[in-house]
Amino acid sequence: MSFACPWCGEHNELPLDPGEFGQQVVMDCAVCCRPIEIDLPADGEGQPAIRGEGQ
Ligand SMILES: [Zn+2]
Repeated sequence: MSFACPWCGEHNELPLDPGEFGQQVVMDCAVCCRPIEIDLPADGEGQPAIRGEGQ
């Protein structure tokens, strides 16, 4: 899954683990290193909700 960083707009790749569907994960942007919250779709096919942590 790829998504645009809410901070800098650069695209990041998130390796999807089916065990994480429906959960919230936090990862650091590979470009600007700021934390990004990602709500993974429960079925793994919907669009994840992306936001900058603390935004
Ligand atoms: Zn970024």
